[in-house]
Amino acid sequence: MRLKGRIALVTGGHRGIGGACASALAAEGATVIVADLLVREPSENEASIRAWPLDVRSASAWAELSEEILRVHGRLDILVNAAGVSQPRSEVHDLDLDEWDDVIAVNQTGVMLGMRMAIGMMLGRGPLSIVNISSIWGHVGGSGQLAYHASKGAVSVMTLNAAVTYAARGIRVNAVLPGLIETEMVRDQDPAMRAETISNTPMSRVGSPDEVAKGVLFLASDEASYITGVLLPVDGGFTAR
Ligand code: NAD
Repeated sequence: MRLKGRIALVTGGHRGIGGACASALAAEGATVIVADLLVREPSENEASIRAWPLDVRSASAWAELSEEILRVHGRLDILVNAAGVSQPRSEVHDLDLDEWDDVIAVNQTGVMLGMRMAIGMMLGRGPLSIVNISSIWGHVGGSGQLAYHASKGAVSVMTLNAAVTYAARGIRVNAVLPGLIETEMVRDQDPAMRAETISNTPMSRVGSPDEVAKGVLFLASDEASYITGVLLPVDGGFTAR
């Protein structure tokens, strides 16, 4: 039990990559708060998981959640920022501004608000490990989906910034950069785009949410005690080329 007694918060933890992260952290002994737009009561074998409604775009909703965590647990040890949205394969010349604003609000502002809440709560009070879910598309160029790529680039750079800013104050901040992972987000993806990504992946397959969660678990745990500011690809070798 690597995380016995730890309090963890996973945004976007209702399903997909966030869901796998919540299960992995709970399996290692953590009490996990799953904060998501979608709320499902955990099953019997998920007794250490608690669901909380949260729109990561809302600063006031983050403030309410912060108060609740302090009231019930008195602290937070781990934050995993996994909530995110994708976008149609629009290119910059025909990008809809509302779509841009919405993707940036969830993927970029949502991660900033999460880090602001958790760091504000724990600064000077104890260690904290943050793991942000970025993407290979925050690291290398791809075609279309400009807002998504921009938001993930921002998540990676915010991770580096926060890692350096708080390294001497007991707060570690890392990110995982998944490649193509089989979740609802990519279920309705353009088949040509999916085939293109797989053909550029040295392992020639998609990944599973559990494979991403294993990287998150490592970075969140004390096994990574001397690791901060790492952008860890979990991508079947996509970014190694
Ligand atoms: P998913 O759609 O299965 O899960 C996303 C979760 O985020 C859902 O539970 C959803 O309800 C929640 N969410 C969305 N908007 C929210 C909001 N405003 N407030 C709170 N919760 C919200 O997708 P996924 O593939 O599991 O994605 C998880 C993360 O991984 C995202 O940040 C995504 O960008 C990233 N990612 C996914 C892939 C992939 O191929 N699936 C690749 C790289 C990165």
